[in-house]
Amino acid sequence: MAKRIVRVLDTTLRDGEQTPGVALNPDEKLEIAKALDDLGVDTIEAGAAVVSEGEREAIKRISKEGLKAEICSYVRALKGDIDAALDCDVDSVHLVVPTSDLHLKYRLKKTREQLKEMAIETSLYALDHGLVVELSAEDATRTDPEFLREVLQAGANEGVQRVCICDTVGIATPEQIGELFSYITGALEVPVAAHCHNDFGLATANTLAAVKAGAGEVHVTINGLGERAGNAALEEVILALSKFYGIKTGIKLEKLYQVSQLVERYTEVPVPPNKAVVGTNAFSHEAGIHTHGVLVHPSTYEPIPPETVGQRRRLVFGKHVGSHAIESELRRRGIEPTREQVQEIFRRIKRLGDRGKLVTDAEWSAIVDEVVGEKLEEMIKLDELTVTSGNKVTPTASVRLKFEGKELTGAAVGVGPVDAAINAIRKVVEGVSSIKLQEYHVDAISGGTDAMVSVVVRLTDGRRIVTARGTSSDIIMASVLAVLNGSNRLLWDKKLGRGQ
Ligand code: MN
Repeated sequence: MAKRIVRVLDTTLRDGEQTPGVALNPDEKLEIAKALDDLGVDTIEAGAAVVSEGEREAIKRISKEGLKAEICSYVRALKGDIDAALDCDVDSVHLVVPTSDLHLKYRLKKTREQLKEMAIETSLYALDHGLVVELSAEDATRTDPEFLREVLQAGANEGVQRVCICDTVGIATPEQIGELFSYITGALEVPVAAHCHNDFGLATANTLAAVKAGAGEVHVTINGLGERAGNAALEEVILALSKFYGIKTGIKLEKLYQVSQLVERYTEVPVPPNKAVVGTNAFSHEAGIHTHGVLVHPSTYEPIPPETVGQRRRLVFGKHVGSHAIESELRRRGIEPTREQVQEIFRRIKRLGDRGKLVTDAEWSAIVDEVVGEKLEEMIKLDELTVTSGNKVTPTASVRLKFEGKELTGAAVGVGPVDAAINAIRKVVEGVSSIKLQEYHVDAISGGTDAMVSVVVRLTDGRRIVTARGTSSDIIMASVLAVLNGSNRLLWDKKLGRGQ
């Protein structure tokens, strides 16, 4: 039997953008749409045309881009919404009507009969204007199943190309979804889509249950973005469909990580490190037993090769480290260590790991350098740093650095003194290398106002990522040292031709 094919509708740009705190400008929406198209989604729900002028501009630009994917606008059962979508030149509309008595009574103040009429009338209006229509039942999992079937069936009879069942508040179980989808898909000729939310952490499981019960399309978002606890995550649903159910989609799995990173950057919603498939820890190993296992035979502690989804294996050096991991990492860097050297590195990492939680990449590299006798040359040296801040004063920092014998100066303002100092350093360093600050956090403060402050930063030069620490009794200096330590590590490794 030929493998079943399931359509993928990505709603990162509509439901995903309804994530609290997320707003994308038209440029960002277009970039994400291009990435989704390249990833292989069948439909891009680009937004709701009726929302705003900016939203229409974004949807228009996406429609004009000539992407392979079908471009879709969210609409309500209102002619004005359809007209706005038509104005944006979309291929299709996701026409959403609430079908539960709860929504009908309190929100729409309409009877079931009136709702059905509205749904059909607007569907016909959209179809007459050449749009593909996906008629979607909002709050379908709290709707009388018979009425749900009646509405969707009526739409299909009038010619809508697809219908959709929404678990709008994420309250269904996989068993309920299975039953409901079997009931609806058994009665309809057109594909039935599943739109599941993650309020109980079941969005992925429910989407899979829907597909198992005959759903022909899934609604998903990158990184599981979406209202409240989010929608079903594209990366989780697609990987599971392919790995466990043998179901084909158009998605190129090896691009998942890259698209996830892009969406994280534009939406500024951080992907949790322990997020399935696309989290930074999804293929990281720290404990000695595990790192030994994956080095000997990767499948011992990895469900799939990380490259399958465009990720890579990361060995984390902390207090659970084993000597095998140290040895293998040194070899990867082209160093043939003696047993004594490995043991010495092992002892030092354990000691550092015992004191705190995290051994940064820069610290790990510094230990290796010391033990195997390769000394890091400070590429950037701090000569002078001045920071002014206070009440009614814009925090300003000026900095003088030496880079390969040359003197470099720069100044910047910030929201606070730490921000101003880091901005000034970054401005100067960015002149010599494209180093970007990805993360900043204060790792530890011990004692009173004379305490030592430890700041950890994550930096990247586009080629690799390093974490680095700065420690000082002064939070501004600790921050600056962390950025300098990380930058020096990146520049030095690049000079030595050290890879990832
Ligand atoms: Mn939704």
